[in-house]
Amino acid sequence: MRHDARIWDEVRRRARRLDRADPLAGLRDRFVVPDGLIYLDGNSLGLLPRGVAARVQHAVEVEWGQGLIGSWNTAGWFTQPARVGDRIGRLIGAPPGSVVVGDSTSVQLFNTLVAAARLRPDRSALVTDAANFPTDGYIAASVARTLGLNLVLVDPTDPFAMARELDDHLAVLTLSHVDYRTGVLHDMAAVTAAAHHAGGVVVWDLAHSAGAVPVDLIAADADLAVGCSYKYLNGGPGAPAFGFVHPRWHDVADPPLTGWLGHESPFALDPEFRPAAGASRLRIGTPPVLSLTALDAALDVFDDIDVALVRAKSLALTDLFIELAEATLTASGFEVVVPRDHRLRGSQVCLRHPHAYPVVQALIAAGVVGDYREPDLARFGFTPLTLRFGDVVDAVAVLEDVMRSEAWRDPRYALRSEVT
Ligand SMILES: *Cc1c(COP(=O)(O)O)cnc(C)c1O
Repeated sequence: MRHDARIWDEVRRRARRLDRADPLAGLRDRFVVPDGLIYLDGNSLGLLPRGVAARVQHAVEVEWGQGLIGSWNTAGWFTQPARVGDRIGRLIGAPPGSVVVGDSTSVQLFNTLVAAARLRPDRSALVTDAANFPTDGYIAASVARTLGLNLVLVDPTDPFAMARELDDHLAVLTLSHVDYRTGVLHDMAAVTAAAHHAGGVVVWDLAHSAGAVPVDLIAADADLAVGCSYKYLNGGPGAPAFGFVHPRWHDVADPPLTGWLGHESPFALDPEFRPAAGASRLRIGTPPVLSLTALDAALDVFDDIDVALVRAKSLALTDLFIELAEATLTASGFEVVVPRDHRLRGSQVCLRHPHAYPVVQALIAAGVVGDYREPDLARFGFTPLTLRFGDVVDAVAVLEDVMRSEAWRDPRYALRSEVT
């Protein structure tokens, strides 16, 4: 159905006004944005910040090429996991010394979940959301098997299900702060308080929050946390994850992966493991220096950003997308799957559609990159650092065109790639 052209004109004028008034508008120039592309996938892999390539090149040619092993000291490679951790810590309300960077989110989850369970040795339940991201669910199941805990999977559609599980069996509750599919944002402070009231500890996964949604781990009293740095933090493909340990557990937390770099004095080559202070005990082995260098450079963009402005723009972008999707796309069978309530919304919007897979492929071919998530979701991430309101209008207009022209029915869009 062709939407009234006048309405599009009005919306485009409104978007131009919003873009002119946007206090974050200048940040877009600090990223490489491929020509003609509307990128709504920064929640899977963030855009490349300018300046990263030169820093990585320096690390390769000078630090590695010339400095060789001396660069562990002279270029600060050894302290990089804690230094970069502190930079991320500033964005998630974590004090210096309570965040380290290294390994993948999956590894960090295993390490923190076991450490959390060891804080509650007399308890039997490991509770998570049945719709949590697969790696979170798989790792939780393996941790439960390893430690002999009961894995409890809560139905996210039942508003009372969680409360019923927060009883005196609770050892650990682990949740994603923002649901990767529906974009639902949990009230971190309220959920943590409820779990603490039951006597348990909480491990938060910030994969879809860090860099996009305000997070204050100390104010929320979170015990442990992990998160990705290649999503909204723009650290690049395979950028290492971060792990947080609340200062009250700094001398107590007992992570299972006791690698030599988590030792308080690795080069003492002590036959016995003695954990490092604070979050550094989450360090395991030799850090991925080149990836950490890329991430460190990428974080420069966040140096003078007010997270409140990022949040305000994120909500305005998703509000506009939802408004336009409801006005122009419901007739083609789309359903908007994200809470309208700002308090419950992350920085993404999903649209449910029975042909979501080919629709997303056709949309990508038309220059609007979102992604597909099983079983029927077209997912769009909104990165306030680079997106313009005009991009939101264009994205919905292109999607409306893909539906109206039935371009998505082309058989090549039904072929599944390895990564969707
Ligand atoms: C993206 C994501 C991950 C990714 O884990 P990796 O080990 O980095 O592959 C984990 N958990 C959640 C909730 C995610 O969204």
